[in-house]
Amino acid sequence: MRRNSDIFVIGGGLAGLLAACRIARAGRTVHLVEAGRTLGGRARATALATTTANVGPHALYAAGHLAAALATLGVRVSGGRPAAGAAIWSGSESPLPAGPATLLRSRLLPGRSKWAFLRAVAALRRADARKVTSLTVAAALERLTDDRHVRTLLAALVRLATYVHAPDLMSAEVAWTQLQLALRGGVRYVDGGWQALVDGLATCARAQGVRVETGRRVARVTVERGGPRVHLPGGAWRDAAAVVVATGPRRAARLLADVLDPATLSPPASVHAACVDLVLEGPPPAPPHLVLGIDVPHYLSVHSAYANLGPPDRHLVSCAAYLPPNATADAGRAALADLETWVAALRPSWQHRIVAIRRMPHLPVVPLLPRAADGGFAGRPRHDLLAAAGIFLAGDYVGAHGHLADAAAASAKAAADDVLAILGPSARAAGGAR
Ligand SMILES: Cc1cc2nc3c(=O)[nH]c(=O)nc-3n(C[C@H](O)[C@H](O)[C@H](O)COP(=O)(O)OP(=O)(O)OC[C@H]3O[C@@H](n4cnc5c(N)ncnc54)[C@H](O)[C@@H]3O)c2cc1C
Repeated sequence: MRRNSDIFVIGGGLAGLLAACRIARAGRTVHLVEAGRTLGGRARATALATTTANVGPHALYAAGHLAAALATLGVRVSGGRPAAGAAIWSGSESPLPAGPATLLRSRLLPGRSKWAFLRAVAALRRADARKVTSLTVAAALERLTDDRHVRTLLAALVRLATYVHAPDLMSAEVAWTQLQLALRGGVRYVDGGWQALVDGLATCARAQGVRVETGRRVARVTVERGGPRVHLPGGAWRDAAAVVVATGPRRAARLLADVLDPATLSPPASVHAACVDLVLEGPPPAPPHLVLGIDVPHYLSVHSAYANLGPPDRHLVSCAAYLPPNATADAGRAALADLETWVAALRPSWQHRIVAIRRMPHLPVVPLLPRAADGGFAGRPRHDLLAAAGIFLAGDYVGAHGHLADAAAASAKAAADDVLAILGPSARAAGGAR
């Protein structure tokens, strides 16, 4: 093992940044190489008509792995918690129940179903998600309640919490985990968009001495003389003490083709979303600011009502259509057209206030869908699959903990901790230099 060589992290999305920060904090020298011109991967945000817009609507689970990792690294997060908002069912809009009082007032469910809903939510809160790993969401909902209205409403809440519209495929473990996370801590829209998280992590990485290179795509990782070798463009290579591969699964499979059968990382199903951002001008839009389709897989939310994303007279509305697993780009474009029609019908008064539109018909949200048939979260590749070669995986398709960005954070922590366990902290850190 090359104890005194540097550690390479490949990929500068959340997983790569988190792993790099955690390893560098222990005093090890870390190189982070990102193919894109900027850091952040899918968590970056961009300017849209003087607002800051995430790449599709993003909400931070306050009780999740990512929030915990950011707190550990001292990355401060501010922003607001969205209110429950409204639901559209059979074309009519009613408040989404935020608790027993709003449920009793809401016209969303018939009277008898309201009690069934309360019972189902209470059972869900107490449920052990590991016991429904091999059940699909649809099967687990059947077990939870015999009320079909309640099942339909819960399926829509699962979609909202997981970003996945696949009740007949997805493991109920994912659904239960996310709903419990939402019930426990709620979510937060982040001031400055998720770019604030990326910038906070980049600052943390640089402060810990991480050498960050953007615009450089690693070509391959091989194993030579007992350790990992990182091949850079143009034929250059560097031997490393350890490598954390924090790209998505397809890139990782290509990078590691010499040491791992690419089929090992090939996702049986992945999930995309069709998203559109609208920037409205003028006074703030009236509440409800979040509207969830119950019988259509659509969502809209005025993110700027809860997070500081631009000047007070500009309002960012993020809308999404949840696509079925393995949907094509053409299916995404068709869903986007439906979504825009839905939004226009729902909020006709917004149409003359729109100053910018950004259409993103096919965004990769969940690179590997944890299916019931594959054992839920445990069906994802382990972070230490190639530990014997000094290579570790991190990302939102890795490991048995968390969904979405929480999986990226949990696997980054596991990978970083294993790197440190194998190599140990540097003499600098061990000597108390920090
Ligand atoms: C529309 C949408 C909505 C979402 N909403 C939420 C949400 O509400 N809550 C939530 O928790 N999560 C959400 N997510 C998921 C979240 O964005 C991701 O889980 C997270 O950003 C993944 O981080 P990552 O580092 O694992 O992967 P990525 O962000 O994909 O980063 C991988 C990085 O590796 C780089 N790379 C690839 N190949 C190479 C190479 N050969 N050399 C160097 N670099 C390379 C890429 O350029 C990229 O920057 C959403 C995602 C989308 C798309």
